[in-house]
Amino acid sequence: MNLDNIRIVLVNTSHPGNIGGVARAMKNMGLSRLYLVEPKQFPDEQASWRAASAADVLDNAVVTASLDEAVADCQFVVGTSARGRRIPWPLQDPRRCAERMASQSASEQVAVLFGREDRGLTNDELKICNLHLNIPTSADYSSLNLAMAVQVVCYELRMLLDVDRLSAAEDAEWDTPFATRENMERYYQHLESTLVDIEFLDPAAPRQLMARLRRLYSRVRLDEMELNILRGILTETQKWVRKARSGE
Ligand code: SAH
Repeated sequence: MNLDNIRIVLVNTSHPGNIGGVARAMKNMGLSRLYLVEPKQFPDEQASWRAASAADVLDNAVVTASLDEAVADCQFVVGTSARGRRIPWPLQDPRRCAERMASQSASEQVAVLFGREDRGLTNDELKICNLHLNIPTSADYSSLNLAMAVQVVCYELRMLLDVDRLSAAEDAEWDTPFATRENMERYYQHLESTLVDIEFLDPAAPRQLMARLRRLYSRVRLDEMELNILRGILTETQKWVRKARSGE
C-alpha cells in the first residue's frame, strides 16, 4: 500500500470549514493529497482554522475546474454515497473498500470522491467510479458530515498500514523463530501421552480435551524456545511418573 498514491477529491464543497476538517482528518491518518473540484470558497480563513496543524495539506491542495481533470491520471476511482445503491453498482463498506484501495495503490493512482454537503455526488459522477463506498449508519440518519465521512475512510486505510507494519515488526523483532507445524504436532503427541501417563486423559473417553488444548495453544504462537521448555516439563513429568510406578 502506498498512501501517497491515494487522493481525496471533494466535489463542489460549500463550506470552507469542511475543507479544513478534511485536511486535518487526512493529515492525522497520514494522507496528504487533496483535490478540490470547484470549491465554493477557497482559500478561506475558516478552512485554515479548522485545518489546525494541517495547513500544509491545504497549501498543497490542487484546485480543478472539473472532476474529470481531478481524476484524469487515476486508474481506480471510488465514489462515496450516503444512500446505498442509488444506482446498481458494486458497493462495499469502508473496510473492504480500503483493502481494495490499499492493494491498487501499490502500483496505481487511486481517488476517493466525496460529494456536496446538500446533494452528495450526482448519478453521472457516481458512474465514473469503479466502486461505491457506503459507511453503514443508523437507518434514521445516514448522512455524515463531509469531514467525518473522510475521517472514517482515511482511518480504515490507516488501520491497514498499521496492521502491515505491526505484524511485520512483531515477526522481525522476535528473538527466536516461531514453532513449525511439525514441531507443534510433535508437542501435541507428547502432551497427549503425558496426560495419559498421569491419568488426566482417559484414552477410552478422550472427549474434546486435545481439541481444546490445541485451540488454546493456537491462540498464542509459540516460539521454538517456549516449545522446548514445555517439552522439557513433559519429559520430567513422565520420568517422575515412571519412578513412582516402579516404587509401587
Ligand atoms: N444529502 C447527501 C449527503 C451528502 S453528505 C446525499 O444524500 O447524498 C456529503 C458527502 O459525505 C457525501 O456526498 C459522501 O461523499 C459523504 N458521506 C456522508 N455520509 C456518508 C455515508 N454514510 N457513506 C458514505 N459517504 C458518506
